[in-house]
Amino acid sequence: MNNSVYLTPVCNMKEFNNLFIELTAKNCNQHCKHCYIDFPLSKNVKDFIPLETVKQALNDTKNENIKCIYLTGAEPMTHPDFNHILRACLKYSNVCIFTNGTFINEKKVRFLKRVEDESSFEIIFKLSIDHYDEIKNDDIRSRGSYRAVVHAIKSLAKYGFNPILCITNYYHEDRNTLMEEFKKLCKKAGFDADENNFTINEYADKNSSVEEIEKWDSPDCEYGRILTAKGVYSCPFLANDHRGRCGSSFSDYSRHNTLETQFCKTCAKNKGKLFGINFELFE
Ligand code: SF4
Repeated sequence: MNNSVYLTPVCNMKEFNNLFIELTAKNCNQHCKHCYIDFPLSKNVKDFIPLETVKQALNDTKNENIKCIYLTGAEPMTHPDFNHILRACLKYSNVCIFTNGTFINEKKVRFLKRVEDESSFEIIFKLSIDHYDEIKNDDIRSRGSYRAVVHAIKSLAKYGFNPILCITNYYHEDRNTLMEEFKKLCKKAGFDADENNFTINEYADKNSSVEEIEKWDSPDCEYGRILTAKGVYSCPFLANDHRGRCGSSFSDYSRHNTLETQFCKTCAKNKGKLFGINFELFE
């Protein structure tokens, strides 16, 4: 009998540096073709994490070496208490906002700059954009998304933020070409970007079969966990998925997890963290 459960690789968390908080599991104003989230047919899902749950998690993890708190979604900026949560997190660490950029305009950026100035930590933006060509981008992400994110880049640059562009290489194009074209796009938007301002991840279909994973290199689960309204999970890919379940809160959770899903194959293929920031590059 092939008892494959005993062959499943196990990942032990090395250090808890990255605390991901899923502000909403399914509330997003875009439904991108490659998104790992299975969206319901109705767009209007109100599944926001309670502010109290976030505060409890911040308290439970205060003795860990958290380098950054990441606000994720679906689209985190749709959370009605987004500003409160951001301020609460900024008392503990740098905060990175994963966003499609549609809620970022000059007025919002001016406000966020003030919030950052009140704190001793930084706000970092990870903006999703998948192609430097408007038509190709909007074909993946939805009409108007290219213009929205370019406007967000412009506004953030104007107030001195240094955004990171998250690109899923959906069309399997040459990475150097992508990088060069995205640099040009940023320059046009008034933002002088270098290689560290881009993370390019290879697209992998979440529905394809799982091959055996032999080697992996610093996946997100080695350095962090994600909190959702339902509990603690190994990484954003496996948020609310029983295969990534680590516990119900940070007062008692598991620091090891198995690598058995198609997403884990994506991590192994891409090498390094897909969600967490490599802060060494910015030092
Ligand atoms: S998807 Fe990646 S980060 Fe998540 S458990 Fe698998 S290897 Fe770890």
